Amino acid sequence: MNNSDRQTLIALRDVSRHYQTGDETVKALDGVSLTIEHGEFVAVMGQSGSGKSTLMNILGCLDRPTGGEYKVNGHDVADLTPDQLAALRLKTFGFVFQRYQLLANLTAQENVALPAVYAHTPKEQREQRAAELLDKLGVGVRMHHTPSEMSGGQQQRVSIARAMINGAEVILADEPTGALDSATGVQVLDMLKQLNEEGVTVILITHDAEVAEHAKRQIHIHDGKIQSDSADGKGQTSSADAPKATPAPLKPFRSVSALVSIGTALQSLKNNWFRTLLTLLGIVIGVAAVVAMMAIGEGGKQQVLQRIESMGTNLLLIRPGGGNNRNSGDTATLSVEDAEALAKLPGIEAAAPERNTRATVRFGSRDFRGRARAITPDYLVVKDWSMSQGTFFTEDDMSSLAPVVVIGQTIVDQLFVNGENPIGQYVFLSNGIFQVVGVLEAKGAAGGEDMDEEILIPLTTGMVRIFGREYLSSITVSIEDTDEIEEAEALVTQVLTQRHGAEDFTVRNTASLIEAITETQDTLTWLLGSVAAISLFVGGIGVMNIMLVSVSERRREIGLRIATGAKPGDILQQFNIEALVVCCLGGVVGLVLGGTVAFIIGQMNIAIAYSLTPPVMAFVSAVLVGLVFGHAPARKASRLNPIDALAED
Ligand code: ADP
Ligand code: MG
Repeated sequence: MNNSDRQTLIALRDVSRHYQTGDETVKALDGVSLTIEHGEFVAVMGQSGSGKSTLMNILGCLDRPTGGEYKVNGHDVADLTPDQLAALRLKTFGFVFQRYQLLANLTAQENVALPAVYAHTPKEQREQRAAELLDKLGVGVRMHHTPSEMSGGQQQRVSIARAMINGAEVILADEPTGALDSATGVQVLDMLKQLNEEGVTVILITHDAEVAEHAKRQIHIHDGKIQSDSADGKGQTSSADAPKATPAPLKPFRSVSALVSIGTALQSLKNNWFRTLLTLLGIVIGVAAVVAMMAIGEGGKQQVLQRIESMGTNLLLIRPGGGNNRNSGDTATLSVEDAEALAKLPGIEAAAPERNTRATVRFGSRDFRGRARAITPDYLVVKDWSMSQGTFFTEDDMSSLAPVVVIGQTIVDQLFVNGENPIGQYVFLSNGIFQVVGVLEAKGAAGGEDMDEEILIPLTTGMVRIFGREYLSSITVSIEDTDEIEEAEALVTQVLTQRHGAEDFTVRNTASLIEAITETQDTLTWLLGSVAAISLFVGGIGVMNIMLVSVSERRREIGLRIATGAKPGDILQQFNIEALVVCCLGGVVGLVLGGTVAFIIGQMNIAIAYSLTPPVMAFVSAVLVGLVFGHAPARKASRLNPIDALAED
């Protein structure tokens, strides 16, 4: 490019920067006019507090003047958007700080490559260019070391390489040798000199006259004003006034891709793995709780429903006791005659009286405790059960008080272990000897309960031999037409009330039972679910809290990213994605943990029902938690003032 076509690189006209602290105005810069052309090597000198850093921040577009005009390559910075300023920082300027400002968790190469992310340089190219620069600056062998493993001089070379990675036109170095011994300082200055000879403009800020000697031009400032400029009278300052073509508009860079942000997020989460773990924990527990609790709640519900449905849906269940003592099985109100009367009613298929207890049945040296029911042959009809072996007892057995028993498959398995045919065998039941006449067809487990533990004996035999009293535990009525169950229920209630002279019994139909139980179980499930959801919410607050801490702790990193060209939007995205990644990770771990917990609980004989909705809902909630609770910290990060952040030690 021809030098005369080029815009003046830097042109300040009457620039001031005033700070308002209370009633007092601090004039950090006060009417500074200055031009710097491409390829210059300028030292800005002055005592501490004279305004050097303020000037550098304005030159580097980290800060805006409160008065006057500043043009970079013909662009008036007052007209530029924050994103355009970021583009200027990215492409035109490279910062070198007194305290190097390298990120402690990254290697030298990664530190150097960092600003190239915002220029969309592909990863391989970034790494290669970083390696080349480090080689050139004589620290190639330290490429894979972290800053803590390097000397001050080496770190400063790394930071110079970082300033150069995006092909900066200007290096702004604020006291670059301030933290180095003089020999190392001279090496660093030589390096800057070499870059200047290759065409890079260097603006060096120092309070040290010896250091300033290395520059071609020295500017002294004092109390925010230029005191002297070695270029004065050499005609350079006038070029700012020469009319130049308006520069091409400055195009801001695209935001870095979400994929790159995810990579950055994973890296920073890895660097702070313990904190990450703590953050994850809230989400993990929340999601796992939702998944496990809902599985247990659903399981309980389905278990109860299964048990009821296995009883049949066309049944009325009549139990003794009404009103306050509805569950007391020992109330002597239902009789065999009641059952006989009900069986004769229209619309009723059968009425099966039952008296039951748990009893031990023994064969030889083995015994088993099962459910003993004294019933009539009608019971088989009502329950719709069938036989696998032998026969059911008959009306004759009933009238002769025969000591016969029909058993379920579990009893057969437990007692006849040597493969004996159970039919015709004699077993002990409540001190009496009973002959096995039949085996029920196996029904398996329903709702977590073994349905094959049945010990069935004739009602009459049972009343006399086992119970000794003449009242029933229940009457099960089957209806001919399920649609007329309500009418049948009313009729049964009416007839029994008439017979007893009082409503000293309860009638339940299985349909209404299912409804009532479904309702209570649903309530319970949602109760469990909301407790779990609250823990997810608390987890979200934890994420926000830890992200806020993280933003405060990483102020220097954020400041550095902004100084090297990140737009506020890039920072916002980075922290949003970090929160999102934490929550997604927590969600996945939570799903696995919740599923495992539910599985283990399922192994402990507690009913579990898996469905897709709770885990999907929990995961989506975790993602939403990340979006919502990560936003405030991310916004805080994107609004950080890089000057303050980088000034901290
Ligand atoms: P130098 O880098 O030459 O030591 P600075 O540019 O840092 O000086 O500061 C110049 C003056 O501006 C100092 O008096 C300093 O106290 C003041 N100053 C700098 N930053 C701020 C600020 N954020 N608020 C108020 N005063 C400030
Ligand atoms: Mg300073």
